[in-house]
Amino acid sequence: MPAVNLLDFDLHGLAAFCEQLGEKRFRATQLFRWIHQRGAADFSQMTDLAKSLRSKLAGKATITPLSVASEQTAGDGTIKWLFDVGAGDAVETVFIPEAGRGTLCISSQAGCAVGCRFCSTGHQGFSRNLTTAEIVAQLWFAEHELRLRLKRPEGDRVITNVVMMGMGEPLQNYAALLPALKVMLDDHAYGLSRRRVTVSTSGVVPMIDRLRDDCPVALAVSLHAPNDLLRSDLVPLNRKYPLHELLDACHRYLDKAPRDFVTFEYCMLDGVNDTDEHALQLVALVHGRVSCKFNLIPFNPFPASGLSRSSNDRVTAFARILMDSGLVTTVRKTRGDDIAAACGQLAGEVQDRTHVKQRNLSRAPIKIHSARAGTLA
Ligand code: SAH
Ligand code: SF4
Repeated sequence: MPAVNLLDFDLHGLAAFCEQLGEKRFRATQLFRWIHQRGAADFSQMTDLAKSLRSKLAGKATITPLSVASEQTAGDGTIKWLFDVGAGDAVETVFIPEAGRGTLCISSQAGCAVGCRFCSTGHQGFSRNLTTAEIVAQLWFAEHELRLRLKRPEGDRVITNVVMMGMGEPLQNYAALLPALKVMLDDHAYGLSRRRVTVSTSGVVPMIDRLRDDCPVALAVSLHAPNDLLRSDLVPLNRKYPLHELLDACHRYLDKAPRDFVTFEYCMLDGVNDTDEHALQLVALVHGRVSCKFNLIPFNPFPASGLSRSSNDRVTAFARILMDSGLVTTVRKTRGDDIAAACGQLAGEVQDRTHVKQRNLSRAPIKIHSARAGTLA
């Protein structure tokens, strides 16, 4: 039997594994703390575990991190790692330092099958889901590596927030995501509060309901358009789960959410979704339907998209309309764009096993409307 990677388990899974080895469940808690709180990768370090258990583990289990293919640091201190996940695939993880907090942006898939027009990952196609171990290993590596580099005392956390906003659609990899979230939240591991772990989704409606029931963390939904016609073109998943279903799912999510609002992400695309008319439609769409905040993301360009970023004045005017109608609105600060680490720029290396890329290339170009004329799609 091949050795099991213990990064694949939440505490519950690890306890079951220990039982299989004929060990008491509480041993799992000790082991879990060594792995996640202290960053141990070697059973011989775990001095308070019985020698017999350590030798049993050494034959049957490993703690296998991801291999780092490259690391880049941006002028603003943002760090991007490229991890080799084998068979020609590589995924990216981004650390964003800010005063008093450190956010890690984690990938959930090698590529993405949703194929949004404005997203570099989407343009690359889809290769495969990451395993729980591969999702957790991004946090395990970043937390312990940075703790060493920054000479932080043990127990002092570098990563205070996690956002599932790297490569991939996390809710299309739910089975691996769920245990990974449990590890992030567990007090014997990273102990992050539910409000500080955010799952961002392009709108996989049934899985939004599952997440609400299984592990309600903060939810961000990539909206990007105020009507189905435009949204279906920008975010193809909208054809399966149109806006009214998506907004209803967001409303249901709030029953159990750790915050009393959903964050709507809205990527500002010049002449495509950024007119005053679009803003007014957006207000009408969400008004009285779901408690929300808006996060406007200035589009981060990449060569193949054929799209451009809305001007700062346009973003400000758009935000003003939302705010005047009482919607809390922020504009996301672009971080790490000099190393292509900003939202939507993560491309890693992906073998497009599902030919998403070909399908994307055959799509008709999007209609760009003159912002001056303010016409709608
Ligand atoms: N698949 C998930 C999470 C990953 S994308 C989702 O779509 O929500 C994280 C965020 O970056 C999403 O809101 C996404 O729409 C946004 N994004 C993608 N491409 C972008 C780009 N080129 N510029 C700015 N934001 C982008
Ligand atoms: Fe996938 Fe999200 Fe990119 Fe869309 S924006 S292609 S869902 S990663």
